Amino acid sequence: MSRFWTDKIASLDPYVPGEQPQDKKYIKLNTNESPYAPSPKALVAMQEQVSERLRLYPDPNCVTLKTALAKSYQLNTDQVFVGNGSDEVLALAFMGYFAGGKPLAFADITYSFYKVYAGLYSIEPKLIPLDDDFNIVPTDYENLDVSGVVVTNPNAPTGKALPLSDIEAILNANPDVVVLVDEAYVDFGAQSAVTLVNQYPNLLVVQTLSKSRALAGIRVGYALGHSDLIEGLERLKNSFNSYPIDRIALAGATAAVEDETYLKEICDKTIATREQSVKELEALGFSVLPSATNFVFATHPKKNAEQIYLALKEQGILVRFFGSNKPRIGNYLRITIGTDAEMAALATALKALLS
Ligand code: PMP
Repeated sequence: MSRFWTDKIASLDPYVPGEQPQDKKYIKLNTNESPYAPSPKALVAMQEQVSERLRLYPDPNCVTLKTALAKSYQLNTDQVFVGNGSDEVLALAFMGYFAGGKPLAFADITYSFYKVYAGLYSIEPKLIPLDDDFNIVPTDYENLDVSGVVVTNPNAPTGKALPLSDIEAILNANPDVVVLVDEAYVDFGAQSAVTLVNQYPNLLVVQTLSKSRALAGIRVGYALGHSDLIEGLERLKNSFNSYPIDRIALAGATAAVEDETYLKEICDKTIATREQSVKELEALGFSVLPSATNFVFATHPKKNAEQIYLALKEQGILVRFFGSNKPRIGNYLRITIGTDAEMAALATALKALLS
């Protein structure tokens, strides 16, 4: 606390990211990073940027990256916005589209950064409870008097996906506000709403290179939507920071987006490992929610999640535990899908712990 802080700073309740401990080498299954290296083409493209040209600013409009994304999703470049991680894209979207005075609708159990942005921009959250099986119920998103709707598909930390018809129902029920669909994990098995962008001028789809494209370290995310929505985000971005994507990130992200073969290869590997891991966890007595992501959300009916989390950490395996005080999810662990070898090490450690 400082006497120079405004009331706004004092009121903030900042996001707490998953642990990134530097004390020893962990098997990191706690922040949904990819266990695989980024595309080799992206690595070469980034290495080429480490040169005297770093004295120059990067392209503020990120044309190469927008062109690659537009081609990949069959959109025009003016339907693509890029930012420093999807967190920055979300932050700008909240500021631009949801800070209009009315509450913002999103699920009670979802990505916890939404509440933080709501606090930052003085937006009142209208929390819509997931049902008893942790599903988003589309009819709960009808007749809302809100500034906008955020749907996470697949949802985090549950990992559960909604079919496209449910997303469409939410869009149809909310034609006068922006419906933001956060698809950070969509490449691991859910249906993307990108195919609806030309039909719904109120749809903003947000994705990231941090998960399926194994590039959390360069911080690149993007939004896809109607050109008017994208222009709004550009106006905000250019009123805040003209160069959020540096030269190295721009080159790496562009090459990664162009390398669709590699994207598919590492997503397929993660999905196969996930299916195997679910079987192993269930054999150990865990109940695991069906996941369309690169993580699973699991609980053991007879064991305390915090104790499992702490014992695994002691053995050098990090998983995500959100706190025993969290309603409904206090005895759950979110476990990122690592390599087959990492998941085998997890299974061995759990077997010993649970016996
Ligand atoms: N959305 C969801 C649902 C997430 O889980 C994350 C990762 N923490 C993000 C957005 C942000 O990802 P990034 O900023 O790395 O693109």
